Amino acid sequence: MAWTDPFGRQIDYVRLSVTDKCNIRCFYCMPERHNSFITPSHYLTFDEIERVVAAFSDLGVSRIRLTGGEPLVRKGLPDLISRLSAVPGIQDLSMSTNAMLLGKLADTVFKAGVSRLNVSLDTLKASRFSEISRGGKLDDVLTGLASAKQAGFEPIKINMLVMKGINDDEVVDLASFCIANGFALRFIETMPMGASGQEAYGHYLDLSVIRDRLSERFDLVPSVMAGGGPARYFRVNGTETNIGFITPLSQHFCATCNRVRMSADGTLHLCLGNSHNMALRPHLRDGISDSGLRDLLIEALALKPWQHNFEDRPDHVTRSMATTGG
Ligand code: SAM
Ligand code: SF4
Repeated sequence: MAWTDPFGRQIDYVRLSVTDKCNIRCFYCMPERHNSFITPSHYLTFDEIERVVAAFSDLGVSRIRLTGGEPLVRKGLPDLISRLSAVPGIQDLSMSTNAMLLGKLADTVFKAGVSRLNVSLDTLKASRFSEISRGGKLDDVLTGLASAKQAGFEPIKINMLVMKGINDDEVVDLASFCIANGFALRFIETMPMGASGQEAYGHYLDLSVIRDRLSERFDLVPSVMAGGGPARYFRVNGTETNIGFITPLSQHFCATCNRVRMSADGTLHLCLGNSHNMALRPHLRDGISDSGLRDLLIEALALKPWQHNFEDRPDHVTRSMATTGG
């Protein structure tokens, strides 16, 4: 069965937020004193998440990415991972993380069933990392990455949000770091999501500038990466390293969108850059049947808009990335 939106796009990928909490506070993602977190009783339970994922799978979803907030702060996450990896039809379970807890958890998470990782890393300078993340320790990330490599995650992709005047002087250093460690690297444009994203949007940089800058240092050959999502990839000639450019603003990829997001309270968000959504939790707690749930998801997908409107109305998405499940 195919889960198809009004524009004929087939959705086979869901980004599933398991918490909106985080152990750091990246300035572009979460306000420093953010305290309007989801009420604990509103979090979907593992039983509820498993049920919704089974319904997604019935509709043709085969890939799930766990995200947040920081997914590793959700208690019992390895148990949820084992349960989701056993859902028939789910062929690929991946996770986006800041890696700070991977020093302790990499092995357990890998054995539970996540094999691919995206790790956010915007700088290799400890003091800058602490400033961007408002108190995080770069060493924790580097230890987490080493443990992830040791545990066997493949691929490990580093996501660097590139911001003018904040960290754009480090793009070559990040590329060299990834080449040396066997990681893929993706550069991301800043999106004006929520109050923090709108503030950070002042540092927005069109990534074509970065590509030109990298080309002066490396020979970049157009390439593709399996499961690489909307990034446009280049391989650094003479290495196995792929570098991707994720350009939601300067060259958006809405026409080939294949995904929806579900936040930790069970709200299905049909578009990252729009507010169209459907709350699933009340239906789950009202005893909706399996076929009713599938029908509800089909109804929800009919709300998916054609594209985001960040360029025309940069301040219209008030939800943060951490709330949505970035
Ligand atoms: N905590 C995990 C992490 O940092 O990878 C997963 C959640 S985080 C919200 C997912 C991604 O969203 C990260 O790569 C982060 O850089 C990105 N992100 C957060 N705020 C953003 C913004 N305003 N614009 C673009 N990307 C953003
Ligand atoms: Fe936390 Fe990820 Fe947001 Fe940074 S980007 S505050 S690590 S959720």
